[in-house]
Amino acid sequence: MSHHEPPDIRIDSLTGAPTVIVGSRQGRPNLPASGCPFCPGGLEAPDPYEVRWFVNRWPALPEECCELVLYTPKHDAEFWSLGVEGATKVVDVWAERTAALGARPDVDYVLIFENRGPEVGATIAHPHGQIYAFSDIPPAPLIELREGRLEPDSIPEELLVSCSGEWIAWVPEAAAYPYELRIAPKNLVGSLTDAECDRSGLAAVLVDSLARLDQLFSEPMPYMLWIHQRPTDGGDWEDSRVHFHITPLLRSPGTQRYVAAAELGSGITFNPVQPAEAAAQLRACKGLSETEPSR
Ligand SMILES: [Zn+2]
Ligand SMILES: [Zn+2]
Repeated sequence: MSHHEPPDIRIDSLTGAPTVIVGSRQGRPNLPASGCPFCPGGLEAPDPYEVRWFVNRWPALPEECCELVLYTPKHDAEFWSLGVEGATKVVDVWAERTAALGARPDVDYVLIFENRGPEVGATIAHPHGQIYAFSDIPPAPLIELREGRLEPDSIPEELLVSCSGEWIAWVPEAAAYPYELRIAPKNLVGSLTDAECDRSGLAAVLVDSLARLDQLFSEPMPYMLWIHQRPTDGGDWEDSRVHFHITPLLRSPGTQRYVAAAELGSGITFNPVQPAEAAAQLRACKGLSETEPSR
């Protein structure tokens, strides 16, 4: 596959929705033939590391636009088990890659994300996330930047789940997924790269929130997580505020929540759990202080 072939982006003439056709990914292996490629000494991590990033060899976009981030050398770790110190190192690498990719003239938007668990297609269990560098601002963040509001200061107490330093986590008032979370700083920070970004506060809230999600049904919660930050197109975006979206997949123990026909057909989601009730359940779970006895 060529390094410089432009992505095959198509716009559906009926819905206007963009799709990247990624034919080459058909050759992607589901499971590595021998050993974990992300463990130290493995294919993608030949040397010892604490947090490591590298270019994805099975990219969905041109090769130099997709990266992977290994959160820890420990294969069986969970994000929350990294503790604040370990999670801060992950945040540091996210910020470093945002700066490096965002500095490129051909990159207008850096999207950091994670799919956790086989339910969301994570083919390798070793804790890791991904980064896509887009040449244009994708539709989802663009709509939020143009029309959305995010005011962590005015979140009602009944929706709060966690806070540390400048950062808070809460269940959105109109959550589309039962235990959906948002995480954002109370101070106006546009990007993880900004000097005012309280990285250890972020790490603490992230670790605490993800620990609570795993406690909720006493099983690892499969989730999708992504970070929205200020675009890197050189635009003004002075109101942009960095934030996390976390959409856990389970609605009850062992039961997945599916976005189904009525929802795709109507564009309206139906959430079976009251957001304030979800927040109360998550507050009652064990968080960082109980899961990290050394602190
Ligand atoms: Zn591994
Ligand atoms: Zn967002």
